[in-house]
Amino acid sequence: MKTMTCKQLGGACDKEFTAATFEEIAVLSKKHGKEMFDAGDQLHLNAMTAMRELMHEDGAMEKWMKEKRDLFDSL
Ligand SMILES: [Zn+2]
Repeated sequence: MKTMTCKQLGGACDKEFTAATFEEIAVLSKKHGKEMFDAGDQLHLNAMTAMRELMHEDGAMEKWMKEKRDLFDSL
């Protein structure tokens, strides 16, 4: 099992997610992000806006996912 924080996954807080695979941790992070979004948490809303800006570039999503996956693998 490996642990990454919300921040390490492009979020805004130090909440930790633990999972065996990157796919699992991505799901946990997404679920948490949605909860924070629904709660109107400003820090997470800002992080999501920044992420959306970042994703305008071609291939940015793939690049971002690869970076996070490499980080997960290196833990
Ligand atoms: Zn968070």
